[in-house]
Amino acid sequence: MSLSSSTIASLRRQLSAGDITPDDILDDLAARIASHDGEIGAYLSHDLEAARRDAAASDLSKPLGGIPIALKDNINALGSPCTCGSRFLENAYTSPYDASVTAALRQAGAIPFGRLNMDEFAMGSSTENSALGRTVNPADPTRIPGGSSGGSAAAVAADLAVAALGSDTGGSIRQPASHCGVVGLKPSYGRVSRYGLVAFASSLDQIGPLTKSVEDSALLLQAIAGADPRDSTCLDAAVPDYLADLDKGVAGMRLGLPKEYFGEGIDPAVREKVEAAARKLEAAGAELVEISLPHTEHAVATYYIIAPAEASSNLSRFDGIRYGRRHGDGSDLIETYRRSREEGFGPEVKRRIILGTWVLSSGYYDAYYSRAQKVRALIRRDFDEAFGKVDAILSPVSPVAARRLGENDDDPLSEYLADIYTIAANLAGICAVSVPCGTIDSGSGTQLPVGLQVIGPHLGEATLLRVAKAAE
Ligand code: GLN
Repeated sequence: MSLSSSTIASLRRQLSAGDITPDDILDDLAARIASHDGEIGAYLSHDLEAARRDAAASDLSKPLGGIPIALKDNINALGSPCTCGSRFLENAYTSPYDASVTAALRQAGAIPFGRLNMDEFAMGSSTENSALGRTVNPADPTRIPGGSSGGSAAAVAADLAVAALGSDTGGSIRQPASHCGVVGLKPSYGRVSRYGLVAFASSLDQIGPLTKSVEDSALLLQAIAGADPRDSTCLDAAVPDYLADLDKGVAGMRLGLPKEYFGEGIDPAVREKVEAAARKLEAAGAELVEISLPHTEHAVATYYIIAPAEASSNLSRFDGIRYGRRHGDGSDLIETYRRSREEGFGPEVKRRIILGTWVLSSGYYDAYYSRAQKVRALIRRDFDEAFGKVDAILSPVSPVAARRLGENDDDPLSEYLADIYTIAANLAGICAVSVPCGTIDSGSGTQLPVGLQVIGPHLGEATLLRVAKAAE
């Protein structure tokens, strides 16, 4: 087995035994990136020399000592580019600081290595909205890797990274993990600091791990979870030992199957895989309980009001003056703003800014934005009620496996509707993970991965990981 296809846990054993060095892992990764990333397109950039310097200083006695971790290109790492997949920031921004998660990785001994492609400013579900390159699905290069953390998922799946961090505002860790066949965890709102994550929708954004195994997911979450004085939304709650109960199984647990997540619009082949995974958990001693999350049908509409509203405000900082590439000669301030934003942002980002500005504008605020907030409260209440009856919820991640590249180019609404099963966890602030549960036939000779989603209550990551481990 090559080093880049190994899990963190296995590399740690080999490092501790003195069988390999951190440089061996970096060399193996760099060689694989050179030979395979031309086809996959997971990376936007990487700096082997900087990583080697970090490796020389890394403390192998630390929990992630000597392990390279790749970062989605919206997470700051001192001295690295951070483009967010946008022309606005391409060659125009170098991180002057580490995001708190980057600092936490370093603190745990890990080596940040490589910047991963993404939909521009994390807006999208396919990585096709990146202005800086195309990423394909390693299982079938004619198909999308999912998004917006498509580079992260594809890199881990194609063994171009040992593990990666992504961000999830409405599914952007879980959906690409599902499409590429890796484990992707969105922590609860407040569990992980977002300081140094370029903000998309601040009431929804979370950073989380994409890994080759559930154990690796627990290891990475352990390193990045916890209070941070630099992010006031980050909770001061104790971080449990995520590895302690990982292998305890699901015997005696109650697992909910929301009937709204298995109905209209789902590919029957996807449903079959997810139901089969649920039955295996039942055979392992869990009790399956049918539940209802009645406001699910409003989740997409609610999200596509709240997320663009917050984005329109967050992205106002990109003006060509404080941040990003400046267009025009700067002699006229308004003209400089206008041209910088017109030329710097791609079409999906503009669509979101226009939508968000509209729903926040006077006269429409009450009809859209404040109504969406009320529906959000109802969606949250659905989950509160469900978690009174069950320990965790099982569902598909996406109603379909990875679609073909280009298929939704002229149909943003279809693209938004496919986020139906992931969005609610963000609106409710709870945690959820995608764990591979098999593959389905694409009809053209390839096998497409399908993910099982396990949704847990707020700060219920330990339970979540335990169910995911049993499913794995
Ligand atoms: N697909 C969703 C969107 O386009 C979610 C993106 C995300 O989680 N960053 O907004």
